[in-house]
Amino acid sequence: MGSSLVSSVKGNARRRQGLRCRVPPTRQVRPRLRGADSAWRLVDVPESRLNTYVLDWDIAHVYSVGMLQLSLFDPNPTPARPRTQGTADVIYADASAVLARPTGRLADLDFVINPYQGCTFACTYCYAAFFVAEEEQRERWGQWVRVKTNAIAKLRNSRQNLHGRTVLMSSATDPYQPIEAKLELTRSLLPILAQRRAHLAVLTRSPLVTRDIDLFESFEHFNATMSITTDSDEVRKRFEPQCASIDRRFEALQQLADAGFRTRINVSPLLPLHDARSFAERILETGVARVHINTFHETSGPFASGTRQPALAIAREMGWTEERRERVLAELRGYLNEGGRRLAA
Ligand code: SF4
Repeated sequence: MGSSLVSSVKGNARRRQGLRCRVPPTRQVRPRLRGADSAWRLVDVPESRLNTYVLDWDIAHVYSVGMLQLSLFDPNPTPARPRTQGTADVIYADASAVLARPTGRLADLDFVINPYQGCTFACTYCYAAFFVAEEEQRERWGQWVRVKTNAIAKLRNSRQNLHGRTVLMSSATDPYQPIEAKLELTRSLLPILAQRRAHLAVLTRSPLVTRDIDLFESFEHFNATMSITTDSDEVRKRFEPQCASIDRRFEALQQLADAGFRTRINVSPLLPLHDARSFAERILETGVARVHINTFHETSGPFASGTRQPALAIAREMGWTEERRERVLAELRGYLNEGGRRLAA
């Protein structure tokens, strides 16, 4: 999606030496001098709601050419709003908040952002479905996604001090699910977090995450976790048919590692494996810093977070019993922690 022109100002460059231009972080400045792009330097202003740019070119050159044109571009112009994503419904609604305090197993993080509610990856086991209040939407999990239309404004206007605080994207949705490729909502939140000096942790099952490598570079602390739940695409197609292949996820993780980022793998939940040792070796080859492994949580009760029934039915069909799950979990942990390594938890 390209940027779009918001406004343009022409002036005499001789009078505009040392020009400062303050713009919202959702805008980008592209200066042109007699039709040619020129350089601006972004002056980072911590906790400011505006970015400050200063003119940064050879003053002698400006004197010689005279006319300066400043153009304000919106790097994320409002995209068309698709009403469907595949066979799923796309709903647009404001949210009461975008920054949330995590609880439970995520309590050691400072904040979590879910730019969407719902997820069209539609994993059969997804625990996030249990956090939806309406029963009909829990039943139709994977067939709808709600876009938080005011997420950018909410984050920009938030008074929370994010400097040095860890923000997770995301805990109850996938920030890089298919609709993100069209809307770029997650992408639009990143410059605001970077400007506020937040530390960013991304959790996804999607290779689309590599699209934003250019923005991840602007964070002082960044890590990416890729969820890879099995070594068998046959198994993946049964439990998470809408998600990318295992190869594509490993490739994306490698791209992030090659870009110099700290990476992790989330084997959650552990699904039937073809070969635990070769899966462990493939994980080790990526150079990840940490592997988190979970098995199914079989729970009862209408609002208890656990594994959804469709996954439990497939598991029964495949003989993925609790006894087998625990045995393979121990095997995989053992291979990953061999030789005193403390990689897997
Ligand atoms: S990608 Fe994550 S949030 Fe989306 S359906 Fe799968 S488990 Fe749930």
